[in-house]
Amino acid sequence: MRSVFFPHLVNGPFGDPALFVRLAHRGEALLFDCGNLHPLSHRDMLKISAVFLSHAHIDHLVGFDTLLRLLLYRGQPLTLYGPPGILAQIENRLGSYTWNLVEGYPFVLRVCEWGPDGCRQAIFRAAHGFACEQEEDFSCPGGVICATPHYRVRAVGLDHGDIVSLAFTLEETLHVAIHKDALDRHGYAAGPWLTEFKDRIRKAPGSNAPVDVPCRDGTTISIGARQLAERIAHVEDGMKICYVTDASPTAANEGRILEMAADSHLLVIEATFARHESERARQRNHLTSWMAGDLARRAGAARLLVFHHSPRYQDVPDKLEREAQQAFTNDSLSDLSVFRESSERE
Ligand SMILES: [Zn+2]
Ligand SMILES: [Zn+2]
Repeated sequence: MRSVFFPHLVNGPFGDPALFVRLAHRGEALLFDCGNLHPLSHRDMLKISAVFLSHAHIDHLVGFDTLLRLLLYRGQPLTLYGPPGILAQIENRLGSYTWNLVEGYPFVLRVCEWGPDGCRQAIFRAAHGFACEQEEDFSCPGGVICATPHYRVRAVGLDHGDIVSLAFTLEETLHVAIHKDALDRHGYAAGPWLTEFKDRIRKAPGSNAPVDVPCRDGTTISIGARQLAERIAHVEDGMKICYVTDASPTAANEGRILEMAADSHLLVIEATFARHESERARQRNHLTSWMAGDLARRAGAARLLVFHHSPRYQDVPDKLEREAQQAFTNDSLSDLSVFRESSERE
C-alpha cells in the first residue's frame, strides 16, 4: 500500500512524547502529544492543523507554548483534542500570559475535551485576548472525534493510574487509486477532475451520481460514479496508525488497546520499562517492552514502533526495542495475556 501518513517521533524513543505525522500531498500535519518541539523546524510546525493530546502530564504538553508562540501569526486555526479537564487547563495556560497587543492577530485555537459521551468545546481567539468562548457539545459516534474527507481520528480513554490517557487511531477514509492505463484505454483525459472524483468516492462510496468526464478528443461524457470507479479506480480500506501511551497494565486497558489497534498498519506504543520490570510498570502505570510487543502481535499490527523509554535504560539504548520486537515477531507465544500474569498476582 502507498503510504499517505508519514509518522516521525520528534524526540526519538527516549525523549518527550510527540509524534509528528505528515499527510502526503496536503501540506498538512497532525501531532500526537506535544512534548518538547524544539527539534521540529518552523516550516513543519506551521503545517500542524490539529494536536491530539493523550493527557496533560508535563512531558506530553510542554511544547504547547512553543507551538502557540509560532502559530500566533498564522491565519489557519489549530484544534487541540484532549482528555477530561483539558479545557480548564488550556484556559489557565492562556490566562497566564498578558495579551494586550494582539488585537490584529488572526490566530484561533479550538479546544475539544473528550468525554465518554461526547466532546465539549470552546474557542479562544488571539484577537479577543484568548477569552474562552463556549461552543456547543458534539457527539462522537464510534469514538470518532475528528472526521475530514481524507482522514478520521478515533479516541479511546485508557486508565493511567487515577486519570484518563487517550489513545488514538488515525485512519485514511478510503484509499482510492486511479489506473492510468484504464484512463488511456477508455480515452479519458487526466486532469484535476480526478482529484474531485476521488473525494466524491471517499465521501459517498456507494453513490452512482453522474460525473462529467473530459475525453481526449475534446468531448465530455457523463458516467455514473460507481460505474466509473469500476472502470478506472481501485478502492480499498485506507491506512491506519494507532497511538498508545501512558497506559496502566490492566486487563481493561489490554482489551481496549487490542480492539483499537486491530489490523493497524503501524502501532506506535509506549515501552517504558524492560520485560522483567512488570511490577515497576504496574506501580508507575506504564507498559513494559514485552507488553507493547505482545499487544502489537495479538492486534495483528503490521509494524511496531516503541517509544517513551525510561531514562534508566540509556546505557542499553536498544534493549527495550529488542525486547518489544521479540514479543512482536514470536509466533510461538500463546495468546495468553502477559497482562494476566501481573493481574493474577494482584
Ligand atoms: Zn508520559
Ligand atoms: Zn503520564
